[in-house]
Amino acid sequence: MKLFLDSIGCRLNQSEIETMARQLLANGHELVGDAAAADTVILNTCAVTHEAARDARKLTRRFHRANPAANIILTGCYATIAPQELERLDGVSQVVANRHKAHLVQTLDPQARLDLPLFEQEPIVREFMAGNLGNTRAFIKVQDGCNNKCTFCVTTVARGEGESRHLGDVVAEIQALAAAGYQEAVLTGVHLGSYGHDLGHKTGLRDLVQAILSHTDISRLRLSSLEPWDIAPHFFALWDNSRLLPHLHLPLQSGSDRVLKRMARRTSQASFSQLVAAARDHIPHLNLTTDLIVGFPGETEAEFAETMAFVQAMNFTRLHVFGYSPRPGTAAANMPHHVPEAIKKERTRRLIELGHTLSLAFHQGYEGQVMNVLWESNVGADAEGLRWTGYTDNYIRVQAHGPADLMNRITPARLHTARPDGMFAELG
Ligand code: SF4
Repeated sequence: MKLFLDSIGCRLNQSEIETMARQLLANGHELVGDAAAADTVILNTCAVTHEAARDARKLTRRFHRANPAANIILTGCYATIAPQELERLDGVSQVVANRHKAHLVQTLDPQARLDLPLFEQEPIVREFMAGNLGNTRAFIKVQDGCNNKCTFCVTTVARGEGESRHLGDVVAEIQALAAAGYQEAVLTGVHLGSYGHDLGHKTGLRDLVQAILSHTDISRLRLSSLEPWDIAPHFFALWDNSRLLPHLHLPLQSGSDRVLKRMARRTSQASFSQLVAAARDHIPHLNLTTDLIVGFPGETEAEFAETMAFVQAMNFTRLHVFGYSPRPGTAAANMPHHVPEAIKKERTRRLIELGHTLSLAFHQGYEGQVMNVLWESNVGADAEGLRWTGYTDNYIRVQAHGPADLMNRITPARLHTARPDGMFAELG
């Protein structure tokens, strides 16, 4: 069977589609780089915003136009919360809810084995998928689901309660990926900080990170998003090992305590700023990024001003800003005083602008410094040679000219010319 795989949304979705790709390859199927050449297209959808849902519909239509004969299979959070909407789209042959996703490959090929020993798994899969990173950086799903009830969040509706993978399985997977040449592993989950809680381990994530650092050869280990209330200050001692990368993504969502309360977030200005101070004390070169929701129901101009001031005070290095969109089945969708779209747009613009200013200032602080970069993709060529992009250990996106064999190498680079979205560099 020839398949094309794609994914929208979070790192977790990406990690799941990569697992599916490995299972398909290991069972003798072929992955193709274009939907037009596939018998079957699988899209892992997202429902976190209106826009993500719209993108899933748009992509599905595009796949069908490119290849009317292909079976299109939709899975993921959007497919779980609104299957009827997706079943109506032309070309869609199956809509698979999250709880059946792990066995999707077997529904396509009943003979398929999903429990292949890790060392028999085929690691080179990303070249066939959108967001190709080659086999440089792997996203490892370590848990699914969440037991919190943030009032805007549709993820808990779509993915259910927290469920963790066994520590030994994660360690074995990462060692297999390291042996296959991957340089970096990124731990992902819906609620990564709760890793192990369902197995009765309150210090689960700390134990997992320690085990990976002790028992695998992976050169770089990164954590994806962590809810701020999951981290105790002693957690930062893990960063004494420089293979754990100095990058923290702590979703704040709002800088106003009143809005945080309406969102049912278990954090506040005071606890968040204490956490950030402790993180900065322990982790040199920390890159601190966050998510923010603008125009949550009832958000006043004064509350939004508090967010602007707090974001500035926290000196985040990159902001992911989302205009609030009501999601079906969430408590916030039924709250009063929804913010008019025009106001939401204007506040979003102001926050994004502040984000660009903070990112630029962070990058300017690195002009002239030499940092190690993992080179991940070739983005073209010009008169000076091949152009490569990669990331420093503290997640600054860097572009430089380099030789043909730079892919998947970690080399020093002298950073120069800061921009809000990254920096240029010369190989050191
Ligand atoms: S912590 Fe909140 S925002 Fe994050 S997945 Fe759980 S309910 Fe959703």
